[in-house]
Amino acid sequence: MTDTPMTPDVALTRLRQYGERTSTWSTATYNDGTEKALHQIAVSLAGEVELLRARADKLEAAASTVRAMHRKHSDSEHCQYDDFEWPCSTAVALGEKPAP
Ligand SMILES: [Zn+2]
Repeated sequence: MTDTPMTPDVALTRLRQYGERTSTWSTATYNDGTEKALHQIAVSLAGEVELLRARADKLEAAASTVRAMHRKHSDSEHCQYDDFEWPCSTAVALGEKPAP
């Protein structure tokens, strides 16, 4: 084992292997609790990673939709969607720099 950090995708692949590999473990070590706990942790964390990635994708898609609505008029310092002074509070919430 090296000290090189794993990428998150490689770590997730390893985690899934611990989640799948119980049949190759000896019943002696699996049943003593350590490998069983490792398996349960791996299954739980791999599931959580997938859930969080799906949520992140969904939130990014929603932010992208809102960002597309709240754009600056090309010919004035106002938001196209709400007509507030640019950047409107929604655009600021999505990361647009507030006016100095
Ligand atoms: Zn706006």
